[in-house]
Amino acid sequence: MGKVGVGLAVGCAAVACVIAAAVVGRRVRRRRTWRRAVVVLEELEQGCAAAVGRLRQVVDAMAVEMHAGLASEGGSKLKMLLTFVDSLPHGSEKGTYYALDLGGTNFRVLRVQLGGNSSAILEHDVEQKPIPQDLMTSTSEDLFDFIASSLKEFVEKEGDPELSSVKRRELGFTFSFPVKQTSVSSGILIKWTKGFSIENLVGKDVSECLEQAISKRGLDMRVAALVNDTVGTLALGHYHDEDTVAAVIIGTGMVVNMEWGNFWSSHMPRMSYDVDLDADSPNPNDQGFEKMISGMYLGDIVRRVILRMSQESDVFGPVSSKLSVPFILRTPFMAAMHEDDSPDLRDVARILNDVLEIPDVPLKVRKLVVNVCDVVTRRAARLAAAGIVGILKKIGRDGSGGITSARIKTGSPSKIQRTVVAIEGGLYTSYSIFREYLNEAMAEILGEEVSPHVILKVTEDGSGIGAALLAASNSSPSVDSVKLL
Ligand code: ADP
Ligand code: MG
Repeated sequence: MGKVGVGLAVGCAAVACVIAAAVVGRRVRRRRTWRRAVVVLEELEQGCAAAVGRLRQVVDAMAVEMHAGLASEGGSKLKMLLTFVDSLPHGSEKGTYYALDLGGTNFRVLRVQLGGNSSAILEHDVEQKPIPQDLMTSTSEDLFDFIASSLKEFVEKEGDPELSSVKRRELGFTFSFPVKQTSVSSGILIKWTKGFSIENLVGKDVSECLEQAISKRGLDMRVAALVNDTVGTLALGHYHDEDTVAAVIIGTGMVVNMEWGNFWSSHMPRMSYDVDLDADSPNPNDQGFEKMISGMYLGDIVRRVILRMSQESDVFGPVSSKLSVPFILRTPFMAAMHEDDSPDLRDVARILNDVLEIPDVPLKVRKLVVNVCDVVTRRAARLAAAGIVGILKKIGRDGSGGITSARIKTGSPSKIQRTVVAIEGGLYTSYSIFREYLNEAMAEILGEEVSPHVILKVTEDGSGIGAALLAASNSSPSVDSVKLL
């Protein structure tokens, strides 16, 4: 009995020891695996760091590349495409004009009524729809049929007898892909970007293709201006404020009239996630800047980091197959997680569960995810700021006295010209932390003396309304265009 008792006691002690060892082992493993997840974040932070010194190198590289791109065709990754827009709308334009805005996530149709006296837009209507995914890789005919039918529906809703009787309507076409313009109203598509890939349109005149689709629908409409979204935004910015010297779109793609999405500099902090994203894209070695800073890609960079964390640790439980689906984590989801201000990070948990099918993520791991979003967004916003200052440097408005000086030559040396940059795009306008980081980096790079003189002005719907303005200022007087007033 005693033996049994002792035996039992020893047995219990041994079991207790085994249990204790298992618990300690699990804790150590959990700590180790947590540590591995933290290491992934730390490496990301180091790899994405963009201190002001590095940003200044990017600024210089941008200005130099712009110079090289202007000096000779093919002289830089920056295409510096001529727009044939030799004057910007000045406020005396009058009448009703239409615009189409194609070039990213959404497709917009607009009608703009211009008053004819100083910068009065009497009214504008916009209709927006997402571009069906299948059309982005379909044929030119399918794409333009979709556009023309949307346009026709929109025109038919005019409801104004005077307008309906007008034969020909003038259209500004915002087509935000690299185009070699042949006139202010025509141009050849050089290549696709931003996930579009319709091979039979490359090398063709996009205005001609659009006009064909429009006339097939029995609509009498002429492309009076073919522009890129930044040119449209610049036109509207300048219409309202003549100190506007440049325009930037921070949305799906990143372009100024120089197609800066393709900018590249070895000074940019690049990581393995960027290399992999590029290799997996339909356009490898292309659009390097765009892939680090635009709304199309930021969510996917975050997805890749979470996937690595999940593979290297067990903080997310078993690796979710959703983490391997490209672009499943769209940038607005990323922004929603980043901007979640609930104490228990409820939105982060919901998005991880609903989008990535990772349930029951503990709070400290949710915080890790927020940190990942923060690092990726901060790098993007800071690089975008450096890009903008690079443009200002090239045109002598960054106060550095670089290529030409920002200071008014005849005035006192402390007088700095007011400089406005028109800015548009969902990433900047809807993602407040991105916007704050961008503004903060601009101030850091420019310094406190110059920075108050550089104003980033949101120009809502600028790319579309601006195209209508350019259609107005470029419409041929012989055309029986809509004249309401
Ligand atoms: P489009 O591409 O249709 O011209 P925008 O230039 O406004 O439209 O850009 C849309 C892009 O902005 C999308 O790629 C999306 O990732 C980003 N975006 C839109 N809303 C948000 C948001 N709330 N937070 C972060 N990014 C956003
Ligand atoms: Mg746009």
